[in-house]
Amino acid sequence: MPSVDDPTVAPLVPETAAVDRPHAAGFGPPSLIGLDRTELADALAGIGEPEAKRKMRANQLFHWIYHRGARDFDAMTSIAKELRGRLAETYTLARPGIVDAQRSMDGTRKWLMRFPDGNEVESVYIPETDRGALCVSSQVGCTLTCAFCHTGTQRLVRNLTAAEIVSQMLVARDDLGEWPTPVGDRWISNIVMMGMGEPLFNYDNVVKALRIIMDDQGIALSKRRITLSTSGVVPEIERVGRDLAVNLAISLHAVTDEVRDVLVPINRKYPIAQLLQACRDYPASNNARRITFEYVMLKGVNDSAADARALVRLIAGIPAKVNLIPFNPWPGAPYACSTGRAIDRFAKIVNDAGYSSPVRVPRGRDIMAACGQLKSASERKRRNRDTAAAPA
Ligand code: SAH
Ligand code: SF4
Repeated sequence: MPSVDDPTVAPLVPETAAVDRPHAAGFGPPSLIGLDRTELADALAGIGEPEAKRKMRANQLFHWIYHRGARDFDAMTSIAKELRGRLAETYTLARPGIVDAQRSMDGTRKWLMRFPDGNEVESVYIPETDRGALCVSSQVGCTLTCAFCHTGTQRLVRNLTAAEIVSQMLVARDDLGEWPTPVGDRWISNIVMMGMGEPLFNYDNVVKALRIIMDDQGIALSKRRITLSTSGVVPEIERVGRDLAVNLAISLHAVTDEVRDVLVPINRKYPIAQLLQACRDYPASNNARRITFEYVMLKGVNDSAADARALVRLIAGIPAKVNLIPFNPWPGAPYACSTGRAIDRFAKIVNDAGYSSPVRVPRGRDIMAACGQLKSASERKRRNRDTAAAPA
């Protein structure tokens, strides 16, 4: 089991000063991808656009970038040719590099993206019959070390910028050919902040990115179609409900502090009672928009009938549903998945108590794209190298 040094790790310090400015000097011409309206106006100021016109031009750029998916300034036909020329001299519309794109036998897709500082994250697209969800990362790695999560074993960690978070959506839409923003059905109908990292440890960038994604002049995804999953950063939960009003998912995974302290170490700082109180107080939940409690099924650890009954008692009074996640194994993982019988028994108890309790069908396991399996390729290589070098 990975050691847990300090479960209360502070939101982190970026590894390099440049990471908060993906378009900073040294990384080639700056890209406008991922910028919000204010930053686009600043970019226009940088090329001498008069102040009186900046706001209107920024709105046009916003439309071309996020509604039309423009990859070339020349495509922006509503913008004067002369200004397009000036934009192209100074800026690009470059996306992060795709290092690897994989497709699972079940249709799940995974992109490994690399940013100019060499850091990498993964995003996953999970198609369903009439819709699909994009699983977006909020950090490179994760400072938390949940014992069953592959991402938590990654050593390199930094916050993603808002631009890097938005870029994941743009790259996926490029690949799926989903431009302009469709009026009706969409391939990417939902976003789940369930990739690498703890989104509430990167609060400002996540909020900024999701506001860009929700903006009705661009990608225009409704807050009802966005779910943010947290391991339980209690002080930020109410705030995110007020700021974004997106759906909330809580990685509960255990019904006693004793077990949760080990599985989800942030529990030592914010124990179950506090976490559930924050859920009761969540401003954006009601019977129509329930809070999802995620519960990973670990053989012999948290999967007994008594655990299921305790879970039902704990969430009483919260508009909730329970998502049971069969544990997805990864090389060297210290746990095994519960048996099908144990999962069915657990699901039945929760369901009989009046809570929807679907068992999540693992998707993309063959390409290591399932929940908790994400880890950058460079980290995997490093880990393999270390394992090979370690004394027997
Ligand atoms: N850091 C956030 C969001 C990313 S993890 C969080 O922890 O909520 C998304 C979900 O996958 C979480 O519920 C997480 O606990 C779960 N998960 C992590 N590793 C897993 C694994 N190996 N098998 C199944 N689910 C896992
Ligand atoms: Fe981080 Fe979430 Fe993995 Fe825990 S489960 S280590 S919080 S990504």
